[in-house]
Amino acid sequence: MRAVIKADDGVGCTFVTDRAEPRLRPGQVRLEVGAASVCGTDAEIYRATPAARELGLVFPVTMGHEVAGTVVEVGPHTAGPSVGTRVAVETHLSCGDCFFCRTGAGHNCRTMSLLGIDVDGAFADRVVVPATSCFAVPDGMDLETAALLEPAGSAMHAVIRAAAPVAGASVLITGAGPVGLVLAQVVAALGARQVVVVEPNGRRRDLVTARGAEAIGTDVHPLDVGDRAVGVRGGFDLGFECSGASAGLGSLVGAVRNEATVVSVGLVNGDFPLAVTRTLITRGLTLRGSFGRSLWTTWDQLSSLVGTGRVDLDSLVTHRLPLSGLPIALDLMRDEAGKVLLLPSLSDVREAPVAAGA
Ligand SMILES: [Zn+2]
Ligand SMILES: [Zn+2]
Repeated sequence: MRAVIKADDGVGCTFVTDRAEPRLRPGQVRLEVGAASVCGTDAEIYRATPAARELGLVFPVTMGHEVAGTVVEVGPHTAGPSVGTRVAVETHLSCGDCFFCRTGAGHNCRTMSLLGIDVDGAFADRVVVPATSCFAVPDGMDLETAALLEPAGSAMHAVIRAAAPVAGASVLITGAGPVGLVLAQVVAALGARQVVVVEPNGRRRDLVTARGAEAIGTDVHPLDVGDRAVGVRGGFDLGFECSGASAGLGSLVGAVRNEATVVSVGLVNGDFPLAVTRTLITRGLTLRGSFGRSLWTTWDQLSSLVGTGRVDLDSLVTHRLPLSGLPIALDLMRDEAGKVLLLPSLSDVREAPVAAGA
C-alpha cells in the first residue's frame, strides 16, 4: 500500500507504494484512512529536530497520527467497532493495564505507544490500531472533521484540566495556531465573558476575530484590552499557553489575576523562570500542564460541541493534498496554512518532491 515513511533519523521522508500490510493481532482493527491531518509534530519529525529525536522514533515508521477512517477488518478475538464503523483514533495508545489506565487516566499510561512515532501511523492507505483506541464518529460528522478531533481535543482537554469555571470568566490565550483557535471557540461555547488571543501574525489574528474573539499583537499589553471586570480584578481569570513560547507563558503569568489558573498546552522547549514567592505564593496562582486527551471525556465533550455547531473545526482546514504531498503540506504550514489534510482519495503528486527545507 501507499505510505509516507520515516526511514532513518535524517531530514525528510519517503513516499512508498509498496509498504507491507501488517497482520492483525488480537485486539486490533484495520482502518481504511479517510482523512489524516498534518501536525506540527510531523514537521519536527520530517526535519529531524532535537525535539523529534526525544520522541523515541522507531525506524522505519509510517508517519501520521491525526486520523479518521472506516474499519475494514477486525482482528481475532477482538471486541469493539465492527467492519464499516467510522472511527477517529486516539494517538496515545494506552496499555489498558497500568495504574493510570485502570483508574480512568489512560492518557498518563506508563507504557504509552504513539501512533506515527513508535507504531506505524496514518499517512497511508490503511492503518492498524487497537480497537480500544477508536472513537466512533457521531452520525452527521464527516471523516475530514473527525480527523481534527484529535488535535482539537488537545484544546478541549486543556479546558478540562484547568478545572476552573469558564462561565462568566475572562480568558487569555497565547498563540492562534489550530489549538489556540479551537480553545478560543471552546471557552466561548462554555460561556466565557471575554476571550482575548495574543498572536504576532496578523493573518492568524484575523482568524481569531472571524470567530468572534478578540485578537491582539504581542506589542499590546493584554490588560489594556481587558474589560471592566478584568480591571477591577487586576487580571484575567484564566490563561492558556498555546504558542509553545516561553515568553507566552510569562505574559500569561503577568496578566492573570490573583488565584487564577494558567494552563500550559504548547510544547515550550527549555526552562521557564518562575518567581516562586512573587507568583505562586503571594498571588496564589495555579499552574497546570495539559497533555493529550482524556479517554473519552475529552472526545465526548468536544464532539458534542462540534456536532451542535458551537465549535467549528472545518474552517481550520486550508489545504487538502494527496498522501505524497506531505513535504508540500509542511512548506505551507511554515507560513499561514491552518490544518492541512492528506486524503488518500486524491491522486498523488507526480512531480519531483518539494523540499520542505531543513
Ligand atoms: Zn498532532
Ligand atoms: Zn497503561
